[in-house]
Amino acid sequence: MSERGVRWWIDWALDLLYPPKCTFCHRLLEPDEREGRICRRCRAALEIQQDPLRGEFFNRGVYCFPYRGYVRKSIHRFKFGGRKEYAAVYAGLLLERIREDREICGADLITHVPTNRQNLRRRGYDHAALLAGHLAGELGIPAVTCLRRTRKTKAMYGLRPHERRANILGAIEICCPAEQIAGKTVILTDDIFTTGATAGECSRVLRMAGAGKVFVLTVAKTEKSY
Ligand SMILES: [Zn+2]
Repeated sequence: MSERGVRWWIDWALDLLYPPKCTFCHRLLEPDEREGRICRRCRAALEIQQDPLRGEFFNRGVYCFPYRGYVRKSIHRFKFGGRKEYAAVYAGLLLERIREDREICGADLITHVPTNRQNLRRRGYDHAALLAGHLAGELGIPAVTCLRRTRKTKAMYGLRPHERRANILGAIEICCPAEQIAGKTVILTDDIFTTGATAGECSRVLRMAGAGKVFVLTVAKTEKSY
């Protein structure tokens, strides 16, 4: 049997064992919905948002959906349930959001908000890096790990905006050669945007290292600011 034939049988067997489910509502997908990994109902119900993300130190930011309902559950499975394949679906949706945006699509490189080491060890993968990797592939630009954590920070949940800023201040540094960033337009990506404290600090560090412009792209935005 040809390699393609073997691949077909493997895919067939995998679909039988683990039938593909919708990235958002987790219902079984019809055969014609499988490629996009989103069911028709979610496609119709999930409207890509057009309002911008606002914050300090970055030029502009965009996101796809409010962080609630199926979106919230989906991101939870992406981060804590091993659903690494969602990165490709989210990247596709973000691409739909920025397709007409020549400035963002013309960026030189893409990087991601660094995850702290403890979470990385627990999950076994870096969800934000996966997202950056898929977006880079779609946009045809390099994904570069530019940033890393310098120290442990408290969990942001439950902290007020000024506490979040204090918590993250000085906790991120550049970890790639300066010439990779200097004068470049950088896309910074993450799964969720809350108060913008973390995205702002990452952007500040990138700008200090000479980045010309920083655009923030996230899958979701929380409705409350904290
Ligand atoms: Zn669905």
